[in-house]
Amino acid sequence: MSDTLNPLESAQIQIKKACDKLGLNPAVYEFLKEPQRVIEISIPVKMDDGSLKIFKGYRSAHNHALGPSKGGVRFHPDVNIEEVKALSTWMSLKSGLLAIPYGGGKGGIAVDPSKLSERELESLSRGYIRGLYKYLGERIDIPAPDVNTNGKIMSYFIDEYIKLNGDKEDIGTFTGKPLILGGSLGRNEATGFGLIIATKYTANEIGIDLKKARIGLQGFGNVASFSLKYLNEQGAKIQYLSIRDESEECGRSALYSEEGFDYDSLQAYRDEHKTLAGYPNAKKISDDEFWSTEFDILIPAALENIITEKIAKNLNVKLIVEGANGPTTPEADEILNEKNIEVIPDILANSGGVLVSYYEWVQNQYGYYWTQEDVQEKQEKDMLKAIEGIYELKREYKTNIRQAAYMYAIKRIAEAMELRGWI
Ligand code: GLU
Repeated sequence: MSDTLNPLESAQIQIKKACDKLGLNPAVYEFLKEPQRVIEISIPVKMDDGSLKIFKGYRSAHNHALGPSKGGVRFHPDVNIEEVKALSTWMSLKSGLLAIPYGGGKGGIAVDPSKLSERELESLSRGYIRGLYKYLGERIDIPAPDVNTNGKIMSYFIDEYIKLNGDKEDIGTFTGKPLILGGSLGRNEATGFGLIIATKYTANEIGIDLKKARIGLQGFGNVASFSLKYLNEQGAKIQYLSIRDESEECGRSALYSEEGFDYDSLQAYRDEHKTLAGYPNAKKISDDEFWSTEFDILIPAALENIITEKIAKNLNVKLIVEGANGPTTPEADEILNEKNIEVIPDILANSGGVLVSYYEWVQNQYGYYWTQEDVQEKQEKDMLKAIEGIYELKREYKTNIRQAAYMYAIKRIAEAMELRGWI
């Protein structure tokens, strides 16, 4: 489904536009267009059948002007160096706009984890840390979960890291940990919860009533599932769900439910069947039908480069909320602009995850843990501060939310780089 541009080129175009609009010293763009450090490693894993397999792993630290690098580790067959660089760039922007003391980081392994046994997965996870531990640390680079990784993978990471790091219990080196290993309440839910804060605010600005809105959701991973849950809590109904469906040629299909989907029953079905294809309480529709449905709100919450030029031309949507990182190609973005479709960009819409990762890191430093209410109350306050700041800039520069969010984030990173004497 992807256009010709790779995600790093997309990120660079977006950054350049924001730097130009702010009239910044060209050195800012020169600094931000590439990560400051990128590492590629080979990870040998003894497979269960006795063979040896070598996997490629990556970690990119984009810019540490505001603090240590921060961002997830993704396990996916499409992971490659360009993608990891782009994702780390977006992480710098997320931290920048949230005013948290981090730079951007991202990592990944090119692997389909569903094809590995539990032992192989553990061995691969530990191998990743063995290759990278010298470049990780509470004050250096702090990984977290991303696509296909979770608290269990973070547990392997932290255990291996502590062993290699002279038994120092620097548990703040990883976030998204299980609670018992120093995780934070509200971290699992954080990205979906934050997405709803941004959606509610914008829906209100542009006059969409969430209770009456026709909503389409793509994906049912961590971000999509909690977005659905919190949208339901707002009284919103999600009737259209685009899912992975290996029995289809494009690998996707969609489900329609008249009364709207509910988090618990989707989750229970998926836990049992490992897929949502065949989910009984819904009508199957084609993926093409999904993307051409008239939506008030469309939430792509899976992977990047999903909304291409071709899809954008056919979209009949008022508001797009980017739950995934980089779901819209730059060409498609131009079309969305021309069609006056509002977009809450990824760096804002899904920034709740890294925000609560920051709270987890803070709690780890204190050794004192907050309630879920404390976490979510604080999350709402911090996200609204960023959203209001971005809207202010949007009005001042008469631009769209994406560009305003980029400008808002880059202003802070540029200021830190200048104060450090980098530019
Ligand atoms: N992987 C998430 C993201 O893309 C969270 C990163 C983090 O918590 O550090 O924003």
